[in-house]
Amino acid sequence: MNEPLSEKNIFWTPSKVSLEQRDRRSGQSGCVVWLTGLSAAGKSTIATELESTLFKQGKLAYVLDGDNTRHGLCSDLGFSPEDRKENIRRLGEVAKLFGDAGMICISAFISPYRSDRDQVRQIVPPGKFIEVYVNAPLAVCEQRDPKGLYARARSGEIRQFTGVSAPYEPPLNPELELRTDTLTVPECIAAILERLRKIPEA
Ligand code: ADP
Repeated sequence: MNEPLSEKNIFWTPSKVSLEQRDRRSGQSGCVVWLTGLSAAGKSTIATELESTLFKQGKLAYVLDGDNTRHGLCSDLGFSPEDRKENIRRLGEVAKLFGDAGMICISAFISPYRSDRDQVRQIVPPGKFIEVYVNAPLAVCEQRDPKGLYARARSGEIRQFTGVSAPYEPPLNPELELRTDTLTVPECIAAILERLRKIPEA
């Protein structure tokens, strides 16, 4: 946890409801499914499909989408390395709280820096941070280009674009890697659901 600026004047209020009690009430184990990968690799597609599938199964799941959160919580942040770091720090804290509340929190952020993702892993309880590397080669992402962003990045209109003019550091040891250039969306969902079954109860 980060050292708070006002460390001496703030006190932690412990909850009277344990994680175990929450899990028993909701019939599921809260966790964070952290999708990372290049733009157009398939994070949002997989996130929303997974959320809908889990919802139909009676589970509580919620998607945090990088573009959506940049409209609100992170509307003051751009795409410099510092802002990307702060973006992931904030969203990691939010994802952790959702997981703590018993939700299956699905996050869809490029989150290009390994150290930023590892920092989120450290604040989530052991075994409850599922890093999913949504992996499609840059050439495939660029060909898909559903939002026309790669074309604008190549022409120089968008600067600091991941994969083109900003780095992407792939996970070294993700809980799951999905090659979205060879797998179908239902196959990706099935693989995540299978991995979710291995999450330890609180
Ligand atoms: P991101 O959120 O990573 O920027 P999107 O989900 O917005 O990516 O776009 C991914 C594109 O790739 C979509 O047009 C989607 O239909 C397509 N696609 C093809 N195969 C897959 C797959 N297996 N998983 C996810 N997306 C896929």
